[in-house]
Amino acid sequence: MERGKILVIVAPSGTGKSTLIDKLLVDFPHIKWSVSYTTRPMREGEINGKDYFFVNEKEFLRMKENDEFVEWAEVHSNYYGTHKGFINDGLKNGDILLFDVDVQGCDSFKDIYGEEAQIIFIEPPSLEHLEQRLRKRGTESNRVIQERLNNAKREIERKDDFDYKVVNDDFEGAYLNLKAVVKEILES
Ligand code: ADP
Ligand code: 5GP
Repeated sequence: MERGKILVIVAPSGTGKSTLIDKLLVDFPHIKWSVSYTTRPMREGEINGKDYFFVNEKEFLRMKENDEFVEWAEVHSNYYGTHKGFINDGLKNGDILLFDVDVQGCDSFKDIYGEEAQIIFIEPPSLEHLEQRLRKRGTESNRVIQERLNNAKREIERKDDFDYKVVNDDFEGAYLNLKAVVKEILES
């Protein structure tokens, strides 16, 4: 059987990647979404097992010691990790797998999977837009928003290091560009 494919989406927090991914999963129902593990507190409206597997730090560190993660990182003062079982089984089954990880996670994916992992960077139109979107979403405190904006500056410096880049200015236009990139990767 042909091996599966790895699609990775990366963007500074607040860019709109979750909104874009939700739409993508409706249009490409055969794509399998990887549910990461995190120690971040659950936001209102999030569902355990759908958005993330929410675990406490002790449980996360136990899983890490057990070598259960293909990659993990500390992002905005919380831990996040991708489970090995999901990715190994998916690749063997020939599945198309979709991941949402930070820039450290992208570097790990490239180190492990090389060209098998295709990475799409979603860029916000500006830091001002990013701040407005984070505030509008209203899920984080001022302190956390500030931390995410500080990290965004470093992440945006990496925007040309990946396989594809899409700017999320006008949502519908950005979505069409993202869809075209995904089609190109699936057909390659
Ligand atoms: P991320 O997953 O990248 O952290 P979200 O998908 O949660 O970001 O989007 C952050 C906020 O910005 C949400 O309130 C979302 O509705 C809004 N948003 C997403 N894309 C756009 C866009 N193109 N223009 C304006 N607002 C957007
Ligand atoms: P959020 O808390 O906004 O859901 O996510 C914060 C950041 O963590 C985002 O950049 C997201 O891509 C990243 N992230 C989510 N899951 C993982 C993961 O499993 N591994 C890594 N390295 N980053 C992740």
